[in-house]
Amino acid sequence: MKSIRVHEHGSAEVLLHGDSTLPQPGSGELRIKIEAAGVNYIDVYHRTGSYAVNLPFIPGIEAAGIVDDLGPDVLDFKLGDRVAYAMQMGGYAEYSIVPAWKVVVLPEAVESKIGAAVMLQGMTAHFLCYSTYGLGPNDTALVHAGAGGVGLLLVQLAKKCGACVIATVSTDEKAELAKASGADDVILYTQDDFEKETMRLTDGVGVDVVYDSVGRTTFEKGLDCLKSRGHMVLYGQSSGAVPRIDVQILNDKGSLFLTRPSLNHYTRDRNAILRRSQDLFKWIVASELKVRIDQTFPLVNASDAHRYLEGRKSKGKVLLEP
Ligand code: NDP
Repeated sequence: MKSIRVHEHGSAEVLLHGDSTLPQPGSGELRIKIEAAGVNYIDVYHRTGSYAVNLPFIPGIEAAGIVDDLGPDVLDFKLGDRVAYAMQMGGYAEYSIVPAWKVVVLPEAVESKIGAAVMLQGMTAHFLCYSTYGLGPNDTALVHAGAGGVGLLLVQLAKKCGACVIATVSTDEKAELAKASGADDVILYTQDDFEKETMRLTDGVGVDVVYDSVGRTTFEKGLDCLKSRGHMVLYGQSSGAVPRIDVQILNDKGSLFLTRPSLNHYTRDRNAILRRSQDLFKWIVASELKVRIDQTFPLVNASDAHRYLEGRKSKGKVLLEP
């Protein structure tokens, strides 16, 4: 089969297209013929080595397609099922092997591209709003990178929870998209001081929760945007890792809560995956959640997809098509 392989960590050029052996499913596993694979920022961390992964590897941890072969002991699936999954390495390929417990059947009304677009970023937005912090109508949330893949979904789900949402973005075009997704206010954080703007918009009170996926360039200022006993949810580091901090800072700034969550820990069992994905599919089918597919690249051009994402161009989902 054709796949993208990484033999050494580095820039987008290390994503090499070529032939690999067709993988065989083991016990409890499915082989999926991939129709669309999600490109996520975590793929960049895997490629560069900022998140540990053994070399060589086929990147990509999200895809949708057709069940093509079944290993022993797989009960709930049959050949030809249209499915999607997240959190399993090997998606930048024509076929991938996935443990059946991580896979969900796609409803007829949800096309494969949407399935591949929503499993990882959608379940992330879901756990951030419903589990990491129980967002409600009395809350104000600051959502960084509010027009990115996770960002556009997070803004919509935060509004669905009834919260007031302030989004930060880098361009006017992204500001329009964040607004269209429901953001009450949008700050161009490349032009304006987002701490000052957040304080102005909240009459000097601050927000209940900051959802920070940007990391190095936003974290410290984000702490100053919080109310006393506010929650800092640091869930990514697209601008680089946050330096280690002295925990006393959480006390000094108002008995703050800090968490560094990962989707892995919020989708540890099949029930959690089913519950979160079924919610997302239900809302998509009811047109209560819009999934914006921004760009689809051919698999062979995976390095262009990474340059697009790292170049801050993504405005919604980036996909690869084998
Ligand atoms: P995005 O589409 O959001 O792309 C990243 C965005 O980050 C950019 O578009 C840009 O938005 C912003 N950004 C700010 N500074 C930089 C910089 N220096 N370089 C690059 N981008 C920058 O990506 P994803 O939706 O795939 O992921 C968003 C984040 O969520 C990532 O940090 C990812 O790791 C994290 N994540 C975490 C999960 C978890 O379980 N903890 C699960 C899924 C994602 P702008 O131009 O508006 O500033």
